[in-house]
Amino acid sequence: MAFRFEIIKKDHFSKARLGRIETYHGSFSTPAFLPVGTQGTIKSLTPEELVEVGVEAILGNTYHLYLRPGHQTIGRLGGLHQFIHWKRPILTDSGGYQLYSLGGLRKISEEGVTFQSHLDGSHHFLTPEKVVEIQRALGSDIGMVLDECVPYPSSYEYVKASTSLTTRWAKRCLDVRHDADPALFAIVQGGMYRDLREGSAQALVQMDFQGYAIGGLSVGEPKSTMLDILEATVPFLPENTPHYLMGVGTPEDILDAVMLGLDLFDCVLPTRNARNGTLFTSAGKMSIKQAQYNEDERPVDEACLCYTCRNYSRAYLRHLYLANEILSSRLNTIHNLYYYMNFMRRIQEAIRENRFLDFSKTHRSHPNGREIENLVRNHTTFVLG
Ligand SMILES: [Zn+2]
Repeated sequence: MAFRFEIIKKDHFSKARLGRIETYHGSFSTPAFLPVGTQGTIKSLTPEELVEVGVEAILGNTYHLYLRPGHQTIGRLGGLHQFIHWKRPILTDSGGYQLYSLGGLRKISEEGVTFQSHLDGSHHFLTPEKVVEIQRALGSDIGMVLDECVPYPSSYEYVKASTSLTTRWAKRCLDVRHDADPALFAIVQGGMYRDLREGSAQALVQMDFQGYAIGGLSVGEPKSTMLDILEATVPFLPENTPHYLMGVGTPEDILDAVMLGLDLFDCVLPTRNARNGTLFTSAGKMSIKQAQYNEDERPVDEACLCYTCRNYSRAYLRHLYLANEILSSRLNTIHNLYYYMNFMRRIQEAIRENRFLDFSKTHRSHPNGREIENLVRNHTTFVLG
């Protein structure tokens, strides 16, 4: 089935929306969080395990897959879904953010971006057209345009010129897109300048993209600035398309953004934190390496019914972490992703029942109280494996 986005329910008291995205590889509910599969894998978990924790769609990194093993190789092997054994939707980013992270190793011109591979120093040239071609070979369900993510802070003049380049690149991506290609999302840039964000959104909306992302946030700016920019940008995006906030974030960031009308999120936070021994729980974050868990027989989160919490103690997880065992990353990742997926499901239910603001307030103010009751109640309808 071709790409389609449907709004099922709008919250009466905020801009939150409950929606559904349909793709050739199935559909998923929004607001949605997509775990990041940088190298064609969500680190340490199999696709079956992702399904078991409730993951409905994942993100792949165009930049990394282009460099290794190469998009043409993946294309010849049947595309990314076939290659990585994942049957559900995949969104691929354009590599704009990874190119930004290369800093001095890249050079931007009107035509595109010249850069040196972080793997072997080889030279490459990415253009908007090339980025569409790569995502076509990967066969993702949703692709992104090439953009320039500007550093924070940057001068008004620099951001203005960069933003208009990103707009011209978006047009070039659209011009070479075929009907059978992945759905194509544009990326609003504009740094921390409200008028540039507004101008970027308005220019992109005049072209016919299937979704709109907001990029270049969560790059070191204060949180209040990020919310201010979101508030200034979202009203200019078409209501009947998905709104994607790239690279964000914490559960609290997600609540704030959902309230402002955002539908899609991705971030390495739950998976990276898991490998660093930091776990998300209904009582806040927990560092499993702490000595206090040495003989703690309780699960990570007594309100959680994930595979890890049903079977393992804090003491054992601490031991695995300190012993640098592979199973530590696996069990911690299972828990953190289950936490995020369950969190998104509860957001969706809250919007459906017009109690999203209450849910958001409860999550922030009573992490140890009502939150746990709600978790237990909701878990009874969401027991996996
Ligand atoms: Zn758990």
